[in-house]
Amino acid sequence: MLCYHQIRNPTRADDAAARPYIVRPSVFSAQMRALKQGGYTTITGDQLVEHLLRGSPLPDKPVLLTFDDASAGQYTHAFPILRRHRFKATFFIMTVVLGKPGWLTREQVRTLDRSGMTIGAHTWDHKAVPEYTDADWQTQLTAPTRDLQRLVGHRIRLFAYPFGLYDSKAIPYLLRAGSRAAFQLADRLDPRHPLWTIRRIIVPELSGRELLREMRSSF
Ligand SMILES: [Zn+2]
Repeated sequence: MLCYHQIRNPTRADDAAARPYIVRPSVFSAQMRALKQGGYTTITGDQLVEHLLRGSPLPDKPVLLTFDDASAGQYTHAFPILRRHRFKATFFIMTVVLGKPGWLTREQVRTLDRSGMTIGAHTWDHKAVPEYTDADWQTQLTAPTRDLQRLVGHRIRLFAYPFGLYDSKAIPYLLRAGSRAAFQLADRLDPRHPLWTIRRIIVPELSGRELLREMRSSF
């Protein structure tokens, strides 16, 4: 399970802390080409959930591509590259940014959904789940999921924790919002709740060959 944030060329305003989250379109393209040539098949989040729940078979060398936060380059740069390879991906949308400069528009989210990409929830404004108190569950989990459901016209089943930070307190609220599984970033799979702590690795600017090596050693 791979996780991307921003697909764009960096600018001088991007400091060292921001760089691991930015992958240039040319590097992303090379990474996708390497996956294709390496025999990987992209799967949807639903396929993964069915596999974890019921053991339904996955293709050989499955890979789940995910994009967090809803930045504009995911549509302008990553989406055409994904289409070229007939790759599927899951986009975890933070709803507060939709329509703002530099971020996805609501129409683009709908287009991604119609093109066979999966749309998942990623809260309203990226507040970390372990910090939630009463009203946050509604503001950050229930309302944004409903908003996305209205936007695409069907259920939203997947959730990604902001900053990858998991808290088991969230599970009943996620279930109530209609989620079936949730994705984190850390290595700490909760053995009691494997569906709610699915691991992903953030992909930095690796070459295609480095990415394949990293994937063989991580999963
Ligand atoms: Zn995020």
